Amino acid sequence: MTVIAIANQKGGVGKTTTAMNLGAALARAGHRTLLVDADPQSNATSGLGLTPEHGFTLYDALAEKISLNTCVLPVRQSNLFIVPATPDLGGAEVELASAMAREKRLERTLAQIRNDYEYVLIDCSPSLGLLTLNALTASDAVLIPVQCEYLALEGLGHLVQTIDRVRTNLNENLNILGVLLTMYDPRTNLSQGVVDQVRNHFPQTFSTIVPRSVRLSESPSFGQTIFEYAETSSGAKAYSLLADELIERQSEDRKTCSKTINPTITNRTTTSELAIFGGN
Ligand code: ADP
Ligand code: MG
Repeated sequence: MTVIAIANQKGGVGKTTTAMNLGAALARAGHRTLLVDADPQSNATSGLGLTPEHGFTLYDALAEKISLNTCVLPVRQSNLFIVPATPDLGGAEVELASAMAREKRLERTLAQIRNDYEYVLIDCSPSLGLLTLNALTASDAVLIPVQCEYLALEGLGHLVQTIDRVRTNLNENLNILGVLLTMYDPRTNLSQGVVDQVRNHFPQTFSTIVPRSVRLSESPSFGQTIFEYAETSSGAKAYSLLADELIERQSEDRKTCSKTINPTITNRTTTSELAIFGGN
Protein backbone atom coordinates (compact mmCIF):
# COMPACT_ATOMS: atom_id res chain seq x y z
CA MET A 1 0.00 0.00 0.00
CA THR A 2 1.35 3.41 -0.98
CA VAL A 3 -0.01 6.39 0.92
CA ILE A 4 0.20 9.74 -0.85
CA ALA A 5 -0.69 13.07 0.78
CA ILE A 6 -1.92 15.69 -1.68
CA ALA A 7 -0.84 18.83 0.10
CA ASN A 8 -0.29 22.55 -0.30
CA GLN A 9 -1.42 24.95 2.40
CA LYS A 10 -2.60 27.34 -0.31
CA GLY A 11 -6.28 26.93 -1.16
CA GLY A 12 -7.59 26.61 -4.69
CA VAL A 13 -4.49 25.04 -6.25
CA GLY A 14 -6.19 21.80 -7.35
CA LYS A 15 -5.65 19.45 -4.39
CA THR A 16 -9.22 18.13 -4.29
CA THR A 17 -9.58 18.00 -8.08
CA THR A 18 -6.36 15.99 -8.19
CA ALA A 19 -7.32 13.67 -5.32
CA MET A 20 -10.66 12.81 -6.95
CA ASN A 21 -9.48 12.43 -10.51
CA LEU A 22 -6.08 10.87 -9.91
CA GLY A 23 -7.89 8.45 -7.59
CA ALA A 24 -10.39 7.65 -10.34
CA ALA A 25 -7.58 7.24 -12.91
CA LEU A 26 -5.67 4.82 -10.65
CA ALA A 27 -8.89 2.89 -10.04
CA ARG A 28 -9.58 2.72 -13.79
CA ALA A 29 -6.07 1.36 -14.30
CA GLY A 30 -7.08 -1.53 -12.04
CA HIS A 31 -5.60 -0.34 -8.73
CA ARG A 32 -7.79 -0.53 -5.67
CA THR A 33 -7.66 3.02 -4.35
CA LEU A 34 -8.91 4.71 -1.19
CA LEU A 35 -9.45 8.45 -1.09
CA VAL A 36 -9.28 9.96 2.41
CA ASP A 37 -11.06 13.30 2.73
CA ALA A 38 -8.94 15.04 5.37
CA ASP A 39 -10.33 18.53 4.79
CA PRO A 40 -13.21 19.77 6.98
CA GLN A 41 -14.51 21.60 3.88
CA SER A 42 -15.21 18.07 2.61
CA ASN A 43 -15.11 19.04 -1.06
CA ALA A 44 -13.92 15.60 -2.18
CA THR A 45 -16.90 13.99 -0.44
CA SER A 46 -19.45 16.38 -1.92
CA GLY A 47 -17.64 16.46 -5.28
CA LEU A 48 -18.28 12.72 -5.58
CA GLY A 49 -21.95 13.30 -4.81
CA LEU A 50 -21.81 11.80 -1.32
CA THR A 51 -23.47 13.09 1.83
CA PRO A 52 -22.42 11.01 4.84
CA GLU A 53 -24.80 12.79 7.23
CA HIS A 54 -26.06 9.53 8.69
CA GLY A 55 -22.90 7.53 8.22
CA PHE A 56 -19.55 7.57 9.90
CA THR A 57 -16.73 9.81 8.72
CA LEU A 58 -12.99 10.27 9.17
CA TYR A 59 -13.79 12.22 12.33
CA ASP A 60 -15.23 9.10 14.02
CA ALA A 61 -12.26 6.97 12.92
CA LEU A 62 -9.72 9.53 14.20
CA ALA A 63 -11.61 9.73 17.48
CA GLU A 64 -11.17 5.95 17.57
CA LYS A 65 -14.89 5.43 18.09
CA ILE A 66 -15.10 3.04 15.15
CA SER A 67 -12.81 1.15 12.78
CA LEU A 68 -11.78 2.89 9.58
CA ASN A 69 -13.53 0.24 7.49
CA THR A 70 -16.87 1.20 9.04
CA CYS A 71 -16.77 4.61 7.37
CA VAL A 72 -15.44 3.59 3.94
CA LEU A 73 -17.99 4.26 1.18
CA PRO A 74 -17.83 2.88 -2.37
CA VAL A 75 -17.75 5.40 -5.21
CA ARG A 76 -19.58 4.74 -8.51
CA GLN A 77 -16.17 4.22 -10.13
CA SER A 78 -15.26 0.59 -9.46
CA ASN A 79 -12.05 0.10 -7.43
CA LEU A 80 -12.46 3.56 -5.89
CA PHE A 81 -13.52 4.08 -2.26
CA ILE A 82 -13.66 7.09 0.04
CA VAL A 83 -13.40 7.85 3.71
CA PRO A 84 -15.78 10.82 3.72
CA ALA A 85 -15.63 13.96 5.81
CA THR A 86 -18.07 16.54 7.09
CA PRO A 87 -17.33 19.95 8.63
CA ASP A 88 -17.23 18.08 12.00
CA LEU A 89 -13.68 17.13 11.10
CA GLY A 90 -12.65 20.65 12.11
CA GLY A 91 -13.40 19.56 15.68
CA ALA A 92 -10.87 16.73 15.43
CA GLU A 93 -8.10 19.30 15.05
CA VAL A 94 -9.07 20.82 18.39
CA GLU A 95 -9.78 17.53 20.17
CA LEU A 96 -6.57 15.86 19.01
CA ALA A 97 -4.50 18.80 20.22
CA SER A 98 -4.29 17.38 23.71
CA ALA A 99 -4.10 13.68 22.73
CA MET A 100 -1.03 11.49 23.15
CA ALA A 101 0.92 10.94 19.90
CA ARG A 102 -1.52 13.33 18.32
CA GLU A 103 0.35 13.48 14.96
CA LYS A 104 0.19 9.69 14.60
CA ARG A 105 -3.54 9.15 14.87
CA LEU A 106 -4.18 8.87 11.11
CA GLU A 107 -1.15 6.60 10.62
CA ARG A 108 -2.49 4.31 13.31
CA THR A 109 -5.96 4.39 11.77
CA LEU A 110 -4.66 3.57 8.27
CA ALA A 111 -2.67 0.63 9.66
CA GLN A 112 -6.04 -1.14 10.05
CA ILE A 113 -6.47 -1.32 6.26
CA ARG A 114 -2.84 -1.81 5.24
CA ASN A 115 -3.58 -4.84 3.04
CA ASP A 116 -6.85 -3.68 1.53
CA TYR A 117 -5.76 -1.01 -0.97
CA GLU A 118 -2.88 -0.41 -3.36
CA TYR A 119 -3.09 3.37 -3.13
CA VAL A 120 -4.38 5.71 -0.47
CA LEU A 121 -4.68 9.37 -1.51
CA ILE A 122 -5.18 11.90 1.28
CA ASP A 123 -6.85 15.16 0.26
CA CYS A 124 -5.38 17.67 2.71
CA SER A 125 -6.89 20.91 3.96
CA PRO A 126 -5.42 24.28 3.00
CA SER A 127 -3.39 24.61 6.20
CA LEU A 128 -0.37 23.08 7.87
CA GLY A 129 -2.37 22.28 11.01
CA LEU A 130 -2.69 19.03 12.90
CA LEU A 131 -4.78 17.27 10.23
CA THR A 132 -2.14 17.93 7.57
CA LEU A 133 0.63 16.88 9.99
CA ASN A 134 -1.29 13.65 10.54
CA ALA A 135 -1.51 13.16 6.76
CA LEU A 136 2.23 13.76 6.27
CA THR A 137 3.09 11.45 9.15
CA ALA A 138 0.92 8.69 7.69
CA SER A 139 2.25 9.02 4.12
CA ASP A 140 5.03 7.52 2.06
CA ALA A 141 5.06 10.47 -0.31
CA VAL A 142 3.67 13.96 -0.90
CA LEU A 143 2.25 15.21 -4.16
CA ILE A 144 2.20 19.01 -4.27
CA PRO A 145 -0.24 20.63 -6.73
CA VAL A 146 0.89 24.09 -7.82
CA GLN A 147 -1.34 26.39 -9.81
CA CYS A 148 0.28 27.96 -12.89
CA GLU A 149 -0.49 31.44 -11.59
CA TYR A 150 1.15 34.54 -10.21
CA LEU A 151 2.74 33.75 -6.80
CA ALA A 152 2.74 30.02 -7.61
CA LEU A 153 5.85 29.40 -5.50
CA GLU A 154 4.60 31.39 -2.55
CA GLY A 155 4.47 29.28 0.58
CA LEU A 156 6.26 26.30 -0.96
CA GLY A 157 9.38 27.03 1.11
CA HIS A 158 7.29 26.73 4.25
CA LEU A 159 5.69 23.50 3.01
CA VAL A 160 9.08 21.98 2.20
CA GLN A 161 10.37 22.95 5.66
CA THR A 162 7.34 21.32 7.24
CA ILE A 163 7.94 18.15 5.20
CA ASP A 164 11.60 18.19 6.34
CA ARG A 165 10.53 18.58 9.96
CA VAL A 166 8.09 15.69 9.66
CA ARG A 167 10.85 13.59 8.09
CA THR A 168 13.22 14.39 10.97
CA ASN A 169 10.77 13.95 13.81
CA LEU A 170 7.84 11.80 12.80
CA ASN A 171 8.26 9.89 9.54
CA GLU A 172 11.73 9.32 8.13
CA ASN A 173 10.33 7.62 5.02
CA LEU A 174 8.45 10.65 3.72
CA ASN A 175 9.45 11.64 0.18
CA ILE A 176 8.33 14.39 -2.13
CA LEU A 177 6.85 12.36 -4.95
CA GLY A 178 6.52 15.35 -7.19
CA VAL A 179 5.05 18.75 -7.92
CA LEU A 180 2.02 18.76 -10.19
CA LEU A 181 1.42 21.84 -12.31
CA THR A 182 -2.31 22.57 -12.53
CA MET A 183 -4.62 25.00 -14.33
CA TYR A 184 -2.10 25.57 -17.09
CA ASP A 185 -3.21 28.02 -19.73
CA PRO A 186 -1.07 27.76 -22.87
CA ARG A 187 -2.23 31.19 -24.05
CA THR A 188 -0.39 33.04 -21.30
CA ASN A 189 3.33 33.70 -20.97
CA LEU A 190 2.79 33.65 -17.22
CA SER A 191 1.82 29.96 -17.25
CA GLN A 192 4.98 29.05 -19.19
CA GLY A 193 7.07 31.17 -16.82
CA VAL A 194 5.65 29.33 -13.82
CA VAL A 195 6.32 25.95 -15.45
CA ASP A 196 9.98 26.87 -15.99
CA GLN A 197 10.41 28.27 -12.48
CA VAL A 198 8.80 25.32 -10.76
CA ARG A 199 10.78 22.78 -12.83
CA ASN A 200 13.92 24.69 -11.98
CA HIS A 201 13.33 24.39 -8.25
CA PHE A 202 11.75 20.96 -8.18
CA PRO A 203 13.53 18.49 -10.44
CA GLN A 204 10.85 15.95 -9.61
CA THR A 205 8.00 17.99 -11.14
CA PHE A 206 5.72 15.64 -13.08
CA SER A 207 6.00 15.96 -16.86
CA THR A 208 2.21 15.70 -17.00
CA ILE A 209 0.64 19.16 -16.70
CA VAL A 210 -3.06 19.58 -15.93
CA PRO A 211 -4.56 22.21 -18.26
CA ARG A 212 -7.17 24.73 -17.18
CA SER A 213 -10.40 23.04 -18.20
CA VAL A 214 -13.96 24.14 -17.64
CA ARG A 215 -15.03 20.47 -17.59
CA LEU A 216 -12.79 19.81 -14.60
CA SER A 217 -14.37 22.64 -12.64
CA GLU A 218 -17.91 21.61 -13.62
CA SER A 219 -17.72 17.90 -12.81
CA PRO A 220 -17.91 18.15 -8.96
CA SER A 221 -21.19 20.05 -9.16
CA PHE A 222 -22.63 16.92 -10.82
CA GLY A 223 -21.04 14.69 -8.18
CA GLN A 224 -18.92 13.08 -10.88
CA THR A 225 -15.27 12.43 -11.61
CA ILE A 226 -13.95 13.82 -14.87
CA PHE A 227 -14.09 10.33 -16.38
CA GLU A 228 -17.84 10.13 -15.83
CA TYR A 229 -18.51 13.73 -16.76
CA ALA A 230 -16.26 14.23 -19.79
CA GLU A 231 -14.19 11.18 -20.56
CA THR A 232 -12.57 12.59 -23.68
CA SER A 233 -11.76 16.03 -22.23
CA SER A 234 -8.22 17.35 -21.87
CA GLY A 235 -8.59 17.13 -18.07
CA ALA A 236 -9.47 13.43 -18.20
CA LYS A 237 -6.50 12.76 -20.47
CA ALA A 238 -4.16 14.64 -18.14
CA TYR A 239 -5.23 12.75 -15.00
CA SER A 240 -4.99 9.47 -16.83
CA LEU A 241 -1.42 10.32 -17.95
CA LEU A 242 -0.60 11.44 -14.42
CA ALA A 243 -1.67 8.05 -13.06
CA ASP A 244 0.60 6.32 -15.63
CA GLU A 245 3.50 8.58 -14.68
CA LEU A 246 2.97 7.99 -10.98
CA ILE A 247 2.86 4.21 -11.42
CA GLU A 248 6.00 4.36 -13.60
CA ARG A 249 7.84 6.49 -11.03
CA GLN A 250 7.01 4.11 -8.27
CA SER A 251 8.25 1.09 -10.13
CA GLU A 252 11.51 2.96 -10.90
CA ASP A 253 11.84 3.95 -7.24
CA ARG A 254 11.34 0.37 -6.23
CA LYS A 255 13.98 -0.81 -8.69
CA THR A 256 16.65 1.68 -7.67
CA CYS A 257 15.54 2.09 -4.05
CA SER A 258 16.75 5.66 -4.52
CA LYS A 259 15.65 8.55 -2.39
CA THR A 260 13.96 11.37 -4.28
CA ILE A 261 16.21 14.37 -4.75
CA ASN A 262 15.39 17.13 -2.34
CA PRO A 263 14.21 20.35 -3.91
CA THR A 264 16.51 23.33 -3.87
CA ILE A 265 13.81 25.71 -2.79
CA THR A 266 14.12 27.73 0.41
CA ASN A 267 12.07 30.54 1.84
CA ARG A 268 14.64 33.07 0.70
CA THR A 269 14.86 31.94 -2.91
CA THR A 270 11.09 31.70 -3.06
CA THR A 271 10.75 35.36 -2.25
CA SER A 272 13.43 36.55 -4.64
CA GLU A 273 12.27 34.29 -7.46
CA LEU A 274 8.76 35.55 -6.96
CA ALA A 275 9.94 39.05 -7.73
CA ILE A 276 10.49 37.87 -11.31
CA PHE A 277 6.74 37.62 -11.69
CA GLY A 278 6.08 40.89 -9.90
CA GLY A 279 5.52 42.93 -13.06
CA ASN A 280 3.00 40.60 -14.71
P1 ADP B 1 -7.95 22.94 -3.50
O1 ADP B 1 -8.46 21.61 -3.07
O2 ADP B 1 -6.45 23.02 -3.57
O3 ADP B 1 -8.52 24.07 -2.69
P2 ADP B 1 -9.62 22.59 -5.85
O4 ADP B 1 -9.24 21.29 -6.46
O5 ADP B 1 -10.87 22.61 -5.02
O6 ADP B 1 -8.41 23.19 -5.03
O7 ADP B 1 -9.72 23.65 -7.03
C1 ADP B 1 -10.11 24.99 -6.78
C2 ADP B 1 -11.12 25.42 -7.84
O8 ADP B 1 -10.51 25.36 -9.12
C3 ADP B 1 -12.31 24.50 -7.90
O9 ADP B 1 -13.44 25.26 -8.23
C4 ADP B 1 -11.99 23.54 -9.03
O10 ADP B 1 -13.13 23.03 -9.66
C5 ADP B 1 -11.19 24.43 -9.97
N1 ADP B 1 -10.15 23.69 -10.71
C6 ADP B 1 -9.25 22.81 -10.22
N2 ADP B 1 -8.45 22.34 -11.19
C7 ADP B 1 -8.86 22.94 -12.34
C8 ADP B 1 -8.43 22.90 -13.70
N3 ADP B 1 -7.40 22.15 -14.09
N4 ADP B 1 -9.09 23.67 -14.61
C9 ADP B 1 -10.12 24.45 -14.22
N5 ADP B 1 -10.56 24.55 -12.98
C10 ADP B 1 -9.95 23.81 -12.03
MG1 MG C 1 -9.66 21.08 -1.44
